[in-house]
Amino acid sequence: MRPSFLFPLFSNITNISGVGDKTAKLLANLGINKIGDAIWHFPHSFIKRKLKNSLKNATIGEVNTFCVKIIEHIAPQRKSQPYRVWAEDEAGEQISLCFFKVYETSIEKNLPVGEKRYISGKVEKFNNILQMSHPDYITKNLNEIPQYEPVYGLTAGISNKFINKLTNQALQRVPILAEWQEPVFLKQNKFPSFNQAIIDVHNPKNMNDLLPTSLSRTRLAYDELLANQLALAIVRQKVKKQKGRKIAGNGLLRKKVIDALPFRLTDAQETVLKEIFADQSSDSRMLRLLQGDVGSGKTIVALLTMLNAVECGYQATIMAPTEILAKQHFESIAPICETIGIRAELLIGKTKGKTRAAIIQDLADGKIDILIGTHALFVEDVTFKDLACVIIDEQHRFGVHQRLNLANKGNKADILVMTATPIPRSLILTAFGDMEYSKITQLPEGRKPVDTRVMPLNKADDIIAALKSKLDNGTRAYWVCPLVEESEKIDLAAAEKRFKYLQDIFGDKVGIIHGKMKEKQKDEIMEQFKSGKINLLVATTVIEVGVNVPEATIIIIEHAERFGLAQLHQLRGRVKRGNSAASCLLLYGFPLSDTARARLKIMKDTEDGFLIAEEDLKLRGSGEILGTKQSGFSNFKIADMSVHQKLLITANKDAKMIIEQDIDLKSPRGEALRTLLYLFEKDDAVKTYLAG
Ligand code: ADP
Ligand code: MG
Repeated sequence: MRPSFLFPLFSNITNISGVGDKTAKLLANLGINKIGDAIWHFPHSFIKRKLKNSLKNATIGEVNTFCVKIIEHIAPQRKSQPYRVWAEDEAGEQISLCFFKVYETSIEKNLPVGEKRYISGKVEKFNNILQMSHPDYITKNLNEIPQYEPVYGLTAGISNKFINKLTNQALQRVPILAEWQEPVFLKQNKFPSFNQAIIDVHNPKNMNDLLPTSLSRTRLAYDELLANQLALAIVRQKVKKQKGRKIAGNGLLRKKVIDALPFRLTDAQETVLKEIFADQSSDSRMLRLLQGDVGSGKTIVALLTMLNAVECGYQATIMAPTEILAKQHFESIAPICETIGIRAELLIGKTKGKTRAAIIQDLADGKIDILIGTHALFVEDVTFKDLACVIIDEQHRFGVHQRLNLANKGNKADILVMTATPIPRSLILTAFGDMEYSKITQLPEGRKPVDTRVMPLNKADDIIAALKSKLDNGTRAYWVCPLVEESEKIDLAAAEKRFKYLQDIFGDKVGIIHGKMKEKQKDEIMEQFKSGKINLLVATTVIEVGVNVPEATIIIIEHAERFGLAQLHQLRGRVKRGNSAASCLLLYGFPLSDTARARLKIMKDTEDGFLIAEEDLKLRGSGEILGTKQSGFSNFKIADMSVHQKLLITANKDAKMIIEQDIDLKSPRGEALRTLLYLFEKDDAVKTYLAG
């Protein structure tokens, strides 16, 4: 349970006075839902409101603060005129305060003639007269005007003044928290305490204070990274600590399969298999990430991994993120299993009735050696007789906590997570912690490079003409439609429009596939595309995730400038599966930003996924690396991988040391670290793995 002293931070923002449901809705646009969220909403600049001793020293065009005496009120004669209040400083210098469309009574009350007031706002000069329209502050008490006023990201209907008030109230609710960082470490880095740091962050006094490298922001980024690394380390350690079993089969099944392959394993495949087999034969549980670019041959690695378990008389399973992919795995794995005399079955949402019941029964009886299914499968009531090996084909949708928990299905089962996303090391750390990982660093021989061209979208008609002759010769092509927004509806409209356009030209040889279709429809279309009934497939990004049609050798990506690098790389991978020469056309529209231009250039220059991933990280920081929020990489509030990579490494080491000394977080520092985990919403890690 979250400690009660943190409750105020986790309570709804409406618990702050002056915030009703309507305001709360607006604040949600800024990501502020809970009171604590306001704490993480950092200012991006500030306004100096230091008092100036005379109107003579006014800086025109900027915010100034003065002490003035009110001289005279002049009400407007016409509606278009402002209400004017004349005021002067001690030297008799004058300024006109202007108000449009306001109640005279309130002005008269706030600015009584003959009295002194402090005013603060932007000063302008018209016809040599100083003027301030709608001062931000009018007060008797100078203390009410902040000398430095932080400026926040805003949304329609929410003023900076309001956010300032809100933040102040939220800050007041932060309890004094026991220090979770090592005192020596804090001293070395000159870091303030957590409580001081959040106050400092919201009170910037110079430009340095606004940088992600300021002491207070760095301290908070470090807190966040430590929470992230610690949560992952705890989960991993707890999983690994469970004794696994030594899996080292006699190799017979594997030999049969390897002998029957129409190709030789690449050195890279051999290397990762060695690493995997070593994990399997050790007596702790395997928890390994297998990275391999699209087409690098992960499937056969997965199969050989599973066969090692099957040779020992255990069961194995591979899970894919979608039904299409599960089916694809089944289609490539099942025939091989049949020839070597073991049983593989497919279990997906569509598997119903008697077939399903039989599979579930046989699985429980141990009559099925390898089960292929979707991730969803694991949530259901499927039980194995003795599951020893779980392979999770993640493509690039991560959610590693759940995945690790899911391995509880298998008694001490080994886990291999496969991903086609080349992930830079720093991001592996943030998403997976210290998971062991293997890389397939080379593609099978004979793969020809994809002929990648970058062209303006207004050449589309020329391209379509050229495409016609290719399609007539039996080539198959994808036409990928742009991501207009993060909204499937709009994407779909664009894709459908293009589909109709192409249909007018190519007739019924054109098909369309998109995320809103039912699995069954998608399957049918994919079948037609595979068989050649359709030879041009218009698609939204659904095809990104691993579909395999070796005959497809052309991919045209419309508005390629709207896609992220990782996405473009995945998409291009679709036509890289066979040994025939393939081409990829990246069509861009205008305006083309510098970043988009750089991305397209990288795509043209290289096919090395790891290089592309590193470049992607450089170009846009980790926040967006995979283009989606769900990726598990981008949910940092403070830390920024393009700035804080070194901190991440330190946090990783720190986390390691902590769990070595105090895995249950029972020491006084451990207690404080629990608070840290809750503060950054790592509740899962604490609840699932830490007792008491
Ligand atoms: P991915 O890593 O994208 O899942 P796959 O496992 O689907 O790649 O492999 C892509 C294609 O390459 C498949 O047709 C597979 O049979 C083939 N393949 C795998 N390993 C090799 C190899 N060592 N030599 C030649 N072809 C291979
Ligand atoms: Mg694959």
